[in-house]
Amino acid sequence: MHKIKLSNTEHIDNYKKLLPAEDIDSLYSLAAKLKGKKIVEINATSFGGGVAELLRSQIPLMRELGLDIDWYVLPANDQFFNITKQLHNCLQGICPLHPNVDIEYYQAYLDDVAKNLPEADIYILHDPQTLGLAQHLQNKKVIWRCHIDLTAAEDSTHNWLTQHYQYFSKVIFSLESYMAGIEKNKAAIVYPAIDPFSKKNYLLSDQECQKIITQHPIDINKPYILQVSRFDKFKNPLGVLHIFSELQKQMPEMQCILMGNYATDDPEGQEYYKSVHKLAKQIDPYNIHIIVQTDDITINAFQRRAAAVIQNSNKEGFGLTVTEALWKQKIVFSRPVGGITLQILNNKTGYYLVDEDSLSANEIVKVLRGGEKHSAIVTRAGHELVKKKFITPIMVRDYLRAYTSI
Ligand code: UDP
Repeated sequence: MHKIKLSNTEHIDNYKKLLPAEDIDSLYSLAAKLKGKKIVEINATSFGGGVAELLRSQIPLMRELGLDIDWYVLPANDQFFNITKQLHNCLQGICPLHPNVDIEYYQAYLDDVAKNLPEADIYILHDPQTLGLAQHLQNKKVIWRCHIDLTAAEDSTHNWLTQHYQYFSKVIFSLESYMAGIEKNKAAIVYPAIDPFSKKNYLLSDQECQKIITQHPIDINKPYILQVSRFDKFKNPLGVLHIFSELQKQMPEMQCILMGNYATDDPEGQEYYKSVHKLAKQIDPYNIHIIVQTDDITINAFQRRAAAVIQNSNKEGFGLTVTEALWKQKIVFSRPVGGITLQILNNKTGYYLVDEDSLSANEIVKVLRGGEKHSAIVTRAGHELVKKKFITPIMVRDYLRAYTSI
């Protein structure tokens, strides 16, 4: 397994500006209970997608609190990632567990990986890719962290998943509605969170944003709607293009920007990207811009200058891209799915899209033309919600409560 190196950024002092002193104290006292324990977090990829994003800010903060914690990723293997992508699709409700899904290979691969697991007192395994490691850790404390939406999971796949729950001391979900099949006292809720001081989220002046944006072939003087997401059917960037084509009829000056990447454990990303590219060319090659594999500060700048941020997902474990946009006081349009429902309260912190593209476009036009006063109230409320519930130290506090409870 591959150990991820992280620079030890100092954060606590920054957070003193955002949180009451007692919250910071409680972080230290929870961390003190884990003194002397080695903690290891394991997931499938160090790049692309929300889990890597979360670990990247969570681990330095935990280290700063004095924890002995490391992050490992599974060795890459195309056949294994093809299987886990199919499992992921079935768990998010796309299809029944097809007999072709090679669970035997999945388990054999993880049996092999388990031979070289690092020593630790507490293991946190993330998402279905790592589930099969748990049976090799039966005399250890092991937590499973589920980041995905299980509410529409197909039965046989969900049964396959829940049979692993016996090996865990605790299972952590993002939403209560994902908990089917677990004993109540074994389950915990921890909300994902963003790091307001990371390159992805720290404050940039308009001038700095413009400097970054002008490095891309877009018209800086025209407004744009933006979706940042992996190229994935659940994120539905194709749907964004359909909405944009309706929106353009009423706002011809509008541009559409899709920023995306593929996670290394996502074999379907490339194919999906090609279909996005094709449709963009058909709809409007001049005003639709697709920006791939970009860096955090570029995403930050594009989010800050967007007329509106869209998150058109039809399934969403949590939706960090929504959190990032709310933090930046952007008008956000999304669908009421999964973790987005914790973040977007319709007309209060953002707005919901509807099924029909032309009606969604009408809603966007109405809000964007509806006067700045109302949207300023909404975007302010979105920012406050993130500050209260979805920033890294709050997530770390809730993780530490779970880790110390086993
Ligand atoms: N992201 C990124 N580059 C991209 C696309 C996404 O850095 O091209 C980041 C995005 O800013 C967010 C995370 O990846 O922090 C995606 O997390 P989210 O919870 O929205 O979705 P997931 O990919 O985990 O399903």
